Parts: sequence; structure tokens; C-alpha cells
Amino acid sequence: MRKSEDTYLHKGLRKQLVALLKGKGITDESVIEAIGSIPRHFFLDSAFERIAYEDRAFPIAANQTISQPYTVAYQTQLLMVKKGDKVLEIGTGSMYQTTVLAAIGAEVYTIERQKQLFEQTSQYLFKIQYPSIHFFFGDGFEGQPKHAPYDKILITAAAPKVPEKLWEQLKVGGMMVIPLDESETAQRMLRLTKKKDGSAKEERFDEFSFVPMLKGKTQN
Ligand code: SAH
Repeated sequence: MRKSEDTYLHKGLRKQLVALLKGKGITDESVIEAIGSIPRHFFLDSAFERIAYEDRAFPIAANQTISQPYTVAYQTQLLMVKKGDKVLEIGTGSMYQTTVLAAIGAEVYTIERQKQLFEQTSQYLFKIQYPSIHFFFGDGFEGQPKHAPYDKILITAAAPKVPEKLWEQLKVGGMMVIPLDESETAQRMLRLTKKKDGSAKEERFDEFSFVPMLKGKTQN
């Protein structure tokens, strides 16, 4: 993440992005407000300031990507995040999605498996603004049992199946939004709500394309 100016030009580009997202079906006001206020260009490695406000994914360090704004908005809207929700996020990446969750007022526990990306979280520029974010280095398949149970769980990488340990860490009545592998190249976005007996109510949404959710963690 890098500190930059947030000029009228950036704010203007952000307004256009928000209008585009609304046109694509993002209606949740808290999501719109968060995306409208967060300077996404701070989250890109290099000076691609205009591209930051185009609706597309972009490479970040360690061969990973910052999710497309539409994908971030879509997942956040499906998760129905409310102020005070305790949210576990798998795949911190650029910290942009993390920041959207925090801006809505969630208490965020976020896990990244790539050391290089995790180390960047120590330079997070909004630490003072969002003390409600807790960064962890580890394997997201394991979750963070110490802080469980969670109201919501958001997975931002392509999952081969619903990770069992994460399901255990979700509250009854809680929701998980997960892009689940349906083929080699595409994931189906699912919203799973945990029922009293521990089983899932499953709702199916659109197809997306994510980088894979991988086991273990890397030291570089
Ligand atoms: N939310 C991020 C999306 C980054 S892409 C953003 O908005 O920028 C997905 C991220 O998930 C990558 O950073 C990848 O390293 C991470 N990831 C993949 N498998 C993981 C796992 N098992 N545990 C934690 N993070 C994982």
C-alpha cells in the first residue's frame, strides 16, 4: 500500500466507478458508500492511478490479484455486512476488501498465506481509522478458532470445497460467501447460511474467476 494524494480527479473517477457498480446491480447503500470513500489507488503497487478506478482485477505482489471492484461489491453485498458484525476474511491480498468491510463497521479478522503480502499489512495506512482490523499470517483453511465464532465468513479465493474448519467457526444463523470451484476456470458464488442443526441453506449466484485457495503458507 502506498500513501498518495486523494485528489478531485480520484474522487471523480470513484464516483464514476460507483455509478457503474450501481448499474451492474449493487444496491446496498453501505457498500456503495464504502467504495465511494476508499481511495483504491492507494492499494495498487505502482502508479496505475486511473486503472485503480476501472472495474477490473489487477496484479499485486506475490503473483496475486486485487479483486475487481464489482467482485468486491458483489461479495460484500451478498454477505449483508452490518455494523458490529464479526467477519472472518480469507485472503487479505491488497487489504482493499478488508478495508471495505471495516468501513461498513465490521470487526474484521483477515488471514493471508503469502508472507510477502502479510508483511505489507504492517504498513497499513488506515490503522488508526480502523482499529477493528486484525491481520493474521496463516492458512485460511484453518481459520482463526481463537476468535470464533464469526457472524460472517468471506472467502476471496477459489475454494475446492467448503472448508470444514471454517464452517465450524461460523455462528448458527451466520453466513458464508464462497466462490466454489465448478470447473477448472470458473467458480460459482454461493451464500451458505448455517442452520440450527449445523447444515447449510445454499443459495447460488453468478460465476466468477478467482486465484486458487491454496493449503499451507509460504515463507516468501
Ligand atoms: N481480498 C483480496 C483478494 C486477493 S486474491 C483483495 O481484495 O485484494 C486472493 C488472496 O487469497 C491472495 O492474496 C492469496 O494469497 C490468498 N490465499 C489463497 N489461499 C489462501 C489460504 N489458504 N489462506 C489465506 N489466504 C489465501
